Amino acid sequence: MSSTGLEGKSVIVTGAASGIGRASALKFAWEGARVLVADLDRTGAEQTAKEIEETGGQALAAVGDLSDRQVVEQVVQRAVAAFGGVEVLVNNAGIMDRMSALGETEDAEWERVIRINLTAPFLLTRAVLPHMLAAGRGSIVFTASEAGLRGSAAGAAYTASKHGVIGLVKNLAVMYRKQGIRANAIAPGPTSTNIQVDAGAEAHGPAVIGQLIGANIGRLGSAEEQAAAIVFLASDAASFVNGAVLAVDDGWAAV
Ligand code: NAD
Repeated sequence: MSSTGLEGKSVIVTGAASGIGRASALKFAWEGARVLVADLDRTGAEQTAKEIEETGGQALAAVGDLSDRQVVEQVVQRAVAAFGGVEVLVNNAGIMDRMSALGETEDAEWERVIRINLTAPFLLTRAVLPHMLAAGRGSIVFTASEAGLRGSAAGAAYTASKHGVIGLVKNLAVMYRKQGIRANAIAPGPTSTNIQVDAGAEAHGPAVIGQLIGANIGRLGSAEEQAAAIVFLASDAASFVNGAVLAVDDGWAAV
């Protein structure tokens, strides 16, 4: 048994075709966990799973839109059937908004960002909880954002979605601590991944926020630096950490 307690554990990582999710899936596998790689992107998900298997690990790819309840139920069933349960869930998949201020946020932008960044983690967590409760243990890690801590890191939709994620984490931590389930989040600062900052030049958000971000952020982080924090929070090394939001941001949150 490794000191992290992750050896042999069943782990679902969402958004694991790319970026922070991919780096986390590889690190969980390196720690000996069995990993279900869930993503919308089939090629990327299969590539992550293949990479894990080629290095002697155990992984499966599950493809679909994780804001769809049926897809979520299939993904969780797949992990339970293959690995006998779900001990760790990493709610990481997410998308950026267009950095729009609230008055310029169209219905479609709002709904898409909230559905993927907030509703999908809600659905996934609700689907894994019965398995964690039956086992009497579980660890859930969310990828929030600096935008979940402040109003000056993204547009209205993304900021609201990530504040919502942090609310879920804190509520879960309180509601389920007696049942042996922990919930925590990382709040990444700007990190080198494939996330698109699809900000329209005409939008009023980037002009306001660009200056604030430019003045305060540190260096660009790597996906591996975020993954290290996710794996720590999921592991037994963080057994007394519950309801925490860990800024992984070269000190941006401290400014
Ligand atoms: P990324 O684009 O490299 O990876 C995100 C993955 O999520 C992609 O593989 C994508 O296919 C998947 N995904 C998107 N929508 C999905 C859906 N509906 N169903 C299933 N999979 C879906 O980006 P990343 O930076 O690694 O993002 C991971 C998380 O980190 C996100 O929640 C993001 O908000 C958060 N984050 C990133 C940064 C950053 O600077 N990169 C900063 C703060 C927070």
